[in-house]
Amino acid sequence: MSASQPPLSPRSPQPPESGEDTGTPTLLVKIFGKDRPGITAGLFDTLAAYSVDVVDIEQVVTRGRIVLCALVTAPAAGGATEGDLRATVHSWADSLKLQAEIISGTGDNRPRGDGRSHVTVLGNPLTARSTAAIAARITATGGNIDRVFRLAKYPVTAVEFAVSGTGTEELRTALATEAAGIGVDIAVVSAGLSRRAQRLVVMDVDSTLIQDEVIELFAAHAGCEDKVAEVTEQAMRGELDFEQSLHARVALLAGLDASVVDKVRAEVRLTPGARTLIRTLKRLGYQVGVVSGGFTQVTDDLKERLGLDFASANTLEIVDGRLTGRVVGDVVDRAGKARLLRSFAEQAGVPLAQTVAIGDGANDLDMLNTAGLGVAFNAKPVVRRAAHTAVNVPFLDTVLYLLGITREEVEAADGLVG
Ligand SMILES: [Mg+2]
Repeated sequence: MSASQPPLSPRSPQPPESGEDTGTPTLLVKIFGKDRPGITAGLFDTLAAYSVDVVDIEQVVTRGRIVLCALVTAPAAGGATEGDLRATVHSWADSLKLQAEIISGTGDNRPRGDGRSHVTVLGNPLTARSTAAIAARITATGGNIDRVFRLAKYPVTAVEFAVSGTGTEELRTALATEAAGIGVDIAVVSAGLSRRAQRLVVMDVDSTLIQDEVIELFAAHAGCEDKVAEVTEQAMRGELDFEQSLHARVALLAGLDASVVDKVRAEVRLTPGARTLIRTLKRLGYQVGVVSGGFTQVTDDLKERLGLDFASANTLEIVDGRLTGRVVGDVVDRAGKARLLRSFAEQAGVPLAQTVAIGDGANDLDMLNTAGLGVAFNAKPVVRRAAHTAVNVPFLDTVLYLLGITREEVEAADGLVG
């Protein structure tokens, strides 16, 4: 067999590799009006009489109005004319009270520029002013908005812009500045197949997966919550070395009856959207883990209850039914969290570039920056500024939108399982 490719036939709709305009006459047919079943079928049925080929189709329905764009080859010479096609399409559209516009031209769509990214915007609400600012900033980086669609209307408005023509990092930096100024959350991820590939999501626990700081729950039982909260705040702001602060806080718990472990487990409140996030990720075949500067006495329970794949934390030492005020083994600190992310990724067989880390504290920063996508979740300003992206709405399931998963997909999956 010859290694050379057979020549393309003159009628072949194959776009050239370079994306250059072939010069083939094409017609852009745009239909707009009240949506109802059968419009798409009706348009193509009408066009079929002219034996044209379909080059591209885009359709959106917004509040009951359809915009349907069909790019087709012009009728071949020798048969019916372009004028005949125009007349037929307009007559069909008129009969359905739709507006039709037909624009002559040549070739396919302009090829999309190099460098493709997905920009997810979470607004609560999303204002016209914010949307204008984001679009202007994308344009200023040299990017072009190729497509826009809504991912979710609940619990926040989430829209995704497909952008080409500019680097993901450049776009991320430019939009991070914009997001902080206008009070919306913006995530920028590189487009491509890896977005659809299996992933590993690793979360911090205290004030991320759960609304509480576990050590403060223990401290309440020991009657030293004020002292502990003070040290926690300092550590989270990055003003204290995490390991020293951990030892100092755990020491305050010395002598506490071990039965409080069960009480604390019962007191833990999951963050809104946590179950939805984990359930959806698991259904998609993702692996999910937690790393915590808190305690295995709580994270092991969460792992079992939520069906997590990985969990790692510090372990409170318990001797003769009482907390000793010490932790056992190596401390999970800022560097430890990043190490655990690498280790989970290796065990899961997922490249680091396809990992997602979510956290709120300064001790999450190494982990957030090690992951392919680091999400600062309702984080302290120092963390927000250093992470790839920030989510500042109090719903953990909004992270799904950053991964391009729509609310409809989440609900459809829930419906299937019942
Ligand atoms: Mg935390």
